[in-house]
Order: sequence, then structure tokens, then C-alpha cells
Amino acid sequence: MADIIKLLPDHVANQIAAGEVVQRPASVVKELLENAIDAKATEIKLIVKEAGKTLVQVIDNGFGMSETDARLCFERHATSKIRTAEDLFNLHTKGFRGEALASIAAIAHVELHTKKEEVELGCRIKIEGSKIISQEVVTTPTGTSIAVKNLFYNIPARRNFLKSDAVELRHIIDEFQRVALAHPAISFVLYHNGNELFNLPVSNIRQRIVNILGGKTNEKLVPINEDTDIVKISGFVGKPEFAKKNRNEQFFFVNDRFIKSPYLHHAIGAAFEGLLKEKMQPSYFIYLEVNPETIDINIHPTKTEIKFDDEHSLYAMLRATVKHSLGQFNIAPVLDFDRDANLDTPYNYKDKQASIPNIQVDRSFNPFSNEKKGIGNTATAPRYTHYKKESNEGWESLYVGLESKSNGNTAFSTENIEFESEEVTSSLFTNEEQKETLTYQLHRKYIVSSIKSGIVVIDQHRAHQRVLYEQLLRNITVSDAVSQQLLFPVTLTFSTSEIALLTEVKESLENIGFMFSNIGDDSIELSGIPSNISESELQIIIEQMLNDFQGEIPDAGFSQTDVLVKSLAKSMAIRTGKKLEIAEQEALVNNLFACKEPTISPFQKTIFITLSVDDLDKKFI
Ligand code: ADP
Ligand code: MG
Repeated sequence: MADIIKLLPDHVANQIAAGEVVQRPASVVKELLENAIDAKATEIKLIVKEAGKTLVQVIDNGFGMSETDARLCFERHATSKIRTAEDLFNLHTKGFRGEALASIAAIAHVELHTKKEEVELGCRIKIEGSKIISQEVVTTPTGTSIAVKNLFYNIPARRNFLKSDAVELRHIIDEFQRVALAHPAISFVLYHNGNELFNLPVSNIRQRIVNILGGKTNEKLVPINEDTDIVKISGFVGKPEFAKKNRNEQFFFVNDRFIKSPYLHHAIGAAFEGLLKEKMQPSYFIYLEVNPETIDINIHPTKTEIKFDDEHSLYAMLRATVKHSLGQFNIAPVLDFDRDANLDTPYNYKDKQASIPNIQVDRSFNPFSNEKKGIGNTATAPRYTHYKKESNEGWESLYVGLESKSNGNTAFSTENIEFESEEVTSSLFTNEEQKETLTYQLHRKYIVSSIKSGIVVIDQHRAHQRVLYEQLLRNITVSDAVSQQLLFPVTLTFSTSEIALLTEVKESLENIGFMFSNIGDDSIELSGIPSNISESELQIIIEQMLNDFQGEIPDAGFSQTDVLVKSLAKSMAIRTGKKLEIAEQEALVNNLFACKEPTISPFQKTIFITLSVDDLDKKFI
């Protein structure tokens, strides 16, 4: 039988390798930036077009390449960084595999300009799909410029797999920030579609963090420092009160290389124990220096995970150091035996009987008067209230909701719910004395209401999500958004990458009722906000929204608005655990059944269940 094994041609092997090295434009950014740093550049410029889909270019002022090297660098396993396997254990460079440029050149149109300091002229090489198209002698500054165009042009499946520009840009910014944070002594600029997104001058670490994450970051930072035989720890952690809901401000660097380490992340979490509210994430920028012989960075192809020889000691030291710094800056709570004795029950009062407190009741209070408060309206609540309908209207809308509910394809059909007859309900509003409680809040979570056929149990949080969701969508599609003009514009600070995201979704936000008077480098100024959001919640709501967007940011249009509106509805909806007054309960029930789709929440969860008298009867057999 004939021999069947063949060696793969280089360009095929390169394409296969590229699958590992280059997942998306951001991978190219990472490789090119790292090469520039290895070439000892002090100024690095990153130019990106269409989130890297059409162009990723890195220009550095490093030591450049000779003509021969320029040609060789695109070969697989071509590296100047290691010569023997032993070198792997004493790495001081970022690259060492000699795979990146070969992989990138296999799946894109690449143009390289490079010149070494000591020569007059440099060279230009064009290469497409691993094939050298041209090589010329050119005048070019000392250093290297590599432009990677039309990534995945020859692998349509991979190209189609790329996410929206906003998502890809987000990944690029992430990589850029990681590299820039690791190297404050190098200046970096990032342009996207001709706009300068970052301009980071040479600085110290603190300034670099502030330049990347925005002016207000400075006051949040607590320095950490520890020097031991096995590790030198430096950097900053964020004060607990500035903790965020997302994990965007968590960075570990080991020997100037960004790494991910769930284990060390846990150590920081342990140091912050008791200082953070539930689900809040501490910010940290931690720089570890260890002997390169004690780590193995070879275990992951994209090199963000590394293995430490002595992980346990590192964990303990990191935890202790962070804890110590938080304590030094008076951030950790005082120990129990230090507590303020004034707060203890005075001795004389210890055995005294507590007297019954005086309760005063406002007997003129009428929950159904027109001025009743809407749900979720705090003292700072806006002029418009969401629940502005009068009670009567509310009850009418209950029927409207029922009539329009005709498609039987939802899990639950409202057709067989019969509500109390109109006669009874309208009398409720004319004769207060006869008022029966029609709703009841159970465990600050469910609203129970009687209906003719039995009872309905409504999840208050989900119900409110649905109400807000439809209301916000209506604002956009039917009427102009109801916006409340702010007396004084509010300025909110965000990181540069968050600003980039905000700019991306600005139009949808305007549709909902946000009015931007200015978008700066690290802040936005709002002159108007949707009518049902209060100023005090703004920052949190927008942060949550940006967070939700990072998972899925569709291009403009309905689905973008839909994600936005869902996110807003989620943050604004009354929570489980909130006590609701009778009037609020009723308003919620009314508004829910006025919705087009009262049965399921915007996140496809059941909003209410019914129990018929028949069901109950069966339980009593
Ligand atoms: P690695 O970085 O793992 O060595 P690469 O494929 O990224 O592999 O690069 C191959 C080689 O090309 C490098 O080892 C280096 O000698 C050279 N090179 C790449 N980029 C630059 C640059 N910006 N300046 C100087 N030399 C470079
Ligand atoms: Mg490299």
C-alpha cells in the first residue's frame, strides 16, 4: 500500500497555528504591542480601523530589524528571543515562540516597515497569506511599523465569527490597557477610526492608572508594597467604597506581563473580606516581581496564565500585604474589642422595662388620593412619576390588559382569569369605608391578589421589570421619550473604554430620554435623564448598563435598544425585599395587567401564577 503521510505545506501549518494565536483583532494587537516592547521601544502607537477588522497597525521606535531578519520574522519558529530550551526558564521577553508573525501573515495582508538605527535605509515587505508579495528598500524611521489589514480575509468562517465593532473594540482596549498598565515608562497612543482614544505619556504607575481610568481614580487608590525573598509586591488596590459591580479594574502583572489568576484573585478577595457589599468587586492593580526561574509561562498559548512554584506562600503574602495596606489607610473596620463603649446599653437601663412607644397615625391619609406616591420614587424622585394614572383608570386598564391577551402560546393564558366585577372595584374608590384589601404582600416578594376564580401570586420584581420595560420601549417607539431636564447638568466619570462604549450606544440612550450636553475623555455631562430615573441612581444604572453591554452589544437598531431597555428595567425595578404600601401594590398590579405581555418578564421568567378555587378545593379533600 502506498505511503499516505505528508508534511503539511508551511502556509497550511501557519494557518492552523493562527487558529491558536489569533482569535480576534485584539490578539493581533497584543502580539504586535509585545513585539514592540521586546524591541525596547519607548514610544508605541496603535492605529485601529473598524475595531481592527480592516486595520491593526503598531508603530514603534524600537531597535528595528535587518533586511534578513525582516524576511525571517514571518517564518514559523523564527525568534530572536530564545536559542536553547534552557532559555525558556529565564525569560525576560514577552515573546519566545516565534509564532505570532508567521500566524498573522498567514491570515491577513501584512505590510512591514523596519529600519535599524545604524543603517541609512530600511526595508518594506508586503506579505499576504504567507506569500511574500514584494520586498523593497525604503526610507523609513528607525523602528518598526507593522500594518495588519483585512484579518481573516482568507478564512470567511472566522471573519463571520467576529462580534460587532463595539465588542471587538472593547477587547482591543482591554489588551491595550493591560500592556500600557504594565509599562508606564513607555508612551502609548491609541487611535480608532481617526479618533484618539488614549494618549498616555511616560509616567509612574499611579499616573498611568489615572490616565487610563479617569481623573477620579486617583483618590480611590491605596498603595501596597512588600519586598520578600520570593516576591516583590507593589501597586494599588481600590478603597472598598469604590468597589464596582464588574471586574473591569482587576489587574495582575507578573514581571510586567498581565496574567489571570483566579487563585491570587481569591487572595485579594480574602483581604477585602467584610469590607465589600455583596456582589461588589474590589479594584486592584498588582505588580509582582519574581525570579523568572520560579514561574512557567509556557502553559497557555496566549500566555495569560502562568504557574508559580510556590503558589501557597504567594497567596498568603498577597493577602497579608493587601490587608495591611487597607488597615494602614484606616479602611479595614476596627477590631471588636476596640468598639465604642458608648454604644453599649448603659448599666442603669439594663433591667428596666421598655416602655411602649407612642404611635401616631395620620387618619386623613388616603392611599387612593391622586397624590399617592409611585413605587420607587425616592425623595429625590423626578417631577414625573411613573404611576401617574388615577386609580380608576388603573382598574380599567386591568381589563384592557385582559382583552388584548389573546395569543394562547404563552405558558399561561390569562383568558380564564376573571377579576372582581367592575361594580365592586369602582365602589372601592367612592366609598373608602368599605375598602377591602385586595392585595397583600407576602415576604416582601410576592403580591397576592384575589381574582374571581381564586388568587393570583405575582413576583413583584419581575412584574415591575415588565412594566418598566414596556414603558421605556413605548417611550422610544411611540412617543418621544419623556425626559426630565435637569436644573444643573450632572457630570459622571467613567473610564475611557466605558466612554467609548457610551459613545457607541449614545443614540439609543437619547431615544430613551438621556440628553448629553458633553462627552469628554473621562466624563459625560447629562442635561436630561429619563423621567423615571432619579439622579442619585444614575451612575449605578449606567455602570450596570455598560456591564450588560459588554456581554452582547448588537449593532445599532432595535436589538441594541432592547438590551439597553432590559438593562434599565433590571436596575430600576423594585427589588425583592422592598416593602410596598397597599397603594403601591395596587398600582403595580394595575400597571402589570396593562402590559402587552404581563405573563413573562423581559428575561423570560414567569411573572405570576394563579391558584383557582378548584385547585384549593382539591387540597382540602
Ligand atoms: P516572538 O516574539 O515569539 O519571538 P514573533 O513572531 O512575534 O515571535 O516575532 C518574531 C521575531 O521578529 C521576533 O523574535 C523579533 O526578533 C522580530 N520582531 C518582531 N516584531 C518586531 C519589532 N516590532 N521590532 C523588532 N523586531 C521585531
Ligand atoms: Mg512576539
